[in-house]
Amino acid sequence: MKKPIIGVLGSLNKEVMPSYEVLTRICCSIDYFQAIEKAGGIPIMLPITDKENIESQISLCDGFVFPGGMDINPLIYEEEPHPKLGINSLELDKYQYEFIKRVIFHTKKSFFAICRGYQMLNIVLGGNLYQDISEIEKEDGKIINQHIQLGHSSQGSHSIIVEKGNPLYDLVGEKYTVNSYHHQSIKKLGKDLKIIAKSKDNVIEAIEYIDDKRSFAIGVQWHPEHMAHQDDKAVTLFKKLIEAAKQEGEKK
Ligand code: MN
Repeated sequence: MKKPIIGVLGSLNKEVMPSYEVLTRICCSIDYFQAIEKAGGIPIMLPITDKENIESQISLCDGFVFPGGMDINPLIYEEEPHPKLGINSLELDKYQYEFIKRVIFHTKKSFFAICRGYQMLNIVLGGNLYQDISEIEKEDGKIINQHIQLGHSSQGSHSIIVEKGNPLYDLVGEKYTVNSYHHQSIKKLGKDLKIIAKSKDNVIEAIEYIDDKRSFAIGVQWHPEHMAHQDDKAVTLFKKLIEAAKQEGEKK
């Protein structure tokens, strides 16, 4: 099989022009595309589209990265907005929700879900979020880590403790240092998801989707695409996705 095609969901960027017209761009950090290429895949960006075209977008790809981006509008999981909720787009949320749902329930294709993509995966499977990490303190104990790091994005800032028996553990072992750019985090875990890593202050930092259809279905709260410039383990996570996409493509 040729190099697998990895679809990356595009985000929206709105900019007010001098004419006061709002220009909307489909965008995504270049680091996702570079990490996928470095790991042996061909990245393509998938723009927001009508529901009826999602199936065709999915069929173009052998595997997927559900990337980071803006906050998720809580209306999608039937909650009211917290005062600290950031910029969001319900239009983008509805598209990505539908896309991820179809990948999970209508295909056997592997995926790697990152930050916002990881949170959306949890919501698709019936979970929800702490809309601001300060909410954890009211229910689950103290936040001690800086989860919106000020250090450079290619460098890890807080540690995670990884559970045994999953591809993440096989790769990074019990303790790993990750970067951190989130003020939201998983609250209620979605169905068929397993927590595979937490930070020392008990924030859920990685999950695995448990099914027997695909060999790589991992979600992480950090940004391995930024770390891939200087951390071989971050590149290897993308390699695992690409190997899985390749194997599944060859079985077709
Ligand atoms: Mn974190």
